[in-house]
Amino acid sequence: MDNQVEQIKQKLNIVDVINRYLPLKKRGRNHIACCPFHGEKTPSFTVSEELQIYKCFGCGKSGDIFSFLQEFEKIDFPEALEELAALAGVKLIKSKNYSKKELTKKTLLEINKEIAKFYNYILLKHPLGKDALDYLTSRAITSETIKEFNLGYSPSNPNYILNYLQKKNFKINDLIATGTFGKSQYNSHLYDRFQDRLVFPLANSRAQILAFSGRILPSSKKQNLAKYINSPETEIYHKSFNLFGLHLSKSAIRDKNAVIVTEGEFDMISLYQAGIKNTVAIKGTAFTEEQLQLLRRFTDTLILALDSDFAGAAASRRSIELADDLDFDIKVLILDEKYKDPDEAIKSDLNYFKKQLDQAVPIWDFIINSQLKINDPDTIKGKKEILKTVLPFLTKIKNLVIRSDYLKKLADELGSTPQSITQESQKYQQSPTKTPIPSKKKGEENKSPSLTEKMEELLLQLILGAKSPSKLAKKLEQYLLLIDNSRLNTIIKELLKTNKKFNANEFQQQLPAEFRSIFQSLFLNNTLKEIDSYQRSREIRKIVNKLSDYNIKQKMNQLNHQIAQLEKNGSQQDLEKVEKEYNQLLQQLAKIQSTKN
Ligand SMILES: [Zn+2]
Repeated sequence: MDNQVEQIKQKLNIVDVINRYLPLKKRGRNHIACCPFHGEKTPSFTVSEELQIYKCFGCGKSGDIFSFLQEFEKIDFPEALEELAALAGVKLIKSKNYSKKELTKKTLLEINKEIAKFYNYILLKHPLGKDALDYLTSRAITSETIKEFNLGYSPSNPNYILNYLQKKNFKINDLIATGTFGKSQYNSHLYDRFQDRLVFPLANSRAQILAFSGRILPSSKKQNLAKYINSPETEIYHKSFNLFGLHLSKSAIRDKNAVIVTEGEFDMISLYQAGIKNTVAIKGTAFTEEQLQLLRRFTDTLILALDSDFAGAAASRRSIELADDLDFDIKVLILDEKYKDPDEAIKSDLNYFKKQLDQAVPIWDFIINSQLKINDPDTIKGKKEILKTVLPFLTKIKNLVIRSDYLKKLADELGSTPQSITQESQKYQQSPTKTPIPSKKKGEENKSPSLTEKMEELLLQLILGAKSPSKLAKKLEQYLLLIDNSRLNTIIKELLKTNKKFNANEFQQQLPAEFRSIFQSLFLNNTLKEIDSYQRSREIRKIVNKLSDYNIKQKMNQLNHQIAQLEKNGSQQDLEKVEKEYNQLLQQLAKIQSTKN
């Protein structure tokens, strides 16, 4: 197994692997991007091709291709192994590698795939699916779209699908574990939860079908039942993690750097079919934190195409707060009231829809404006209502400048002063905002380094980021040897010993194990700042000057003490010697200070 992991690592380059998920930019010896694991707008996620590792200086996450994939796709190690093996073209030696849980997962995924295939066949090819197909046609859904989304119809009689699945030798217990089937209390026969419904497979971002949702047909006799139902939570399906359509739309979301968020399956499908592919459905009106984090991997812009009175609901307030915490730009698509939902607007006037999409307004403007529309800001009652709805949103804006801008705007609209609005807003500020950036890993949390230590680290970072770090180190040897810092000394010594061309990976192998992560951190940290070789040598000169300046001053201090001692009870000869030394240092110091800048 370890052997296979190594084999896969040999064949894959971390830069290519990560590039499949987020665009990396080459900078110096390394690559850089905005971190997919925490919200940020200035990149602090670095990748080293030489070391085949990544490290984020914002949230502290680091590792290799396996941990990246696990973290990014939210999968466990065996799944990451499988995916990367396929990518590398390495055939995995299977056998007892799978735990019982993993085997169950695999079986459920296989069954779901078969269920979707069967429902899709009934819908497209079988007379039993005719009503459902007619319904989709009436909603202008094409057969291409049906195929792409793998839509289906579950017949009223569950025996068809049960026969089909049992012929494939799936066990009854596994069928029940998918959530699609249940056992009747009366006769212990299996029933199909979705029978006589149009069925939408719910896939994860890797297109594995985890569950289903089913919509009742307008022609069905059972109109008293819920219009939509979902699979229950299962071993593989967790509702809060799911976004409908993401497996089809993720690359468009990344390309456009925006995602249009709709409520239901039909809205999402309709946008997608109209060529607006960067869209998902949240199946409801509020986001979960997991959904937002999932989307944040692909984009930092949310365009909400939700039911227009979502601003009133506490749940949506919470999701907007969460999205703001994750540094999303949040906009709202505004549609004319004559359209019930995005689906309807697209079908009657696609150009209008696209125009509105381009003119989506920032969420905070939307919230203020929508309240001004339904309440009269000139009456006391109206003012109160507006404040009650709007302030809880505005007081949660993370960015203080933006927050104060909108409080000012609200004050203007209400004919009040920003001060009194700010005062009023304090009533709404008690509840603490959450989602802090995860803290650094253990071991990295040493006490904050002194200024000198920081400069020494910076010097080493600059050297390690140069074209030939060992050559540069030799040039600066006299200064580097002055550095008295146990974290850095071992690395410096090793660097000065290196005679061949510097190779980061060989270099780290030569280091004692406990120094490797310090080295990796120094090596990747210099990716954060973009500098050319001229700036690099300028920076180095500055630090070297400062460090020697500091060093000389310290020595002079010591000599001063000695001189004071010798003046009391030393020989004239000794005193002269020390004074001479002192003067030499003084000259050195003057020289350094004259070359500054
Ligand atoms: Zn991060």
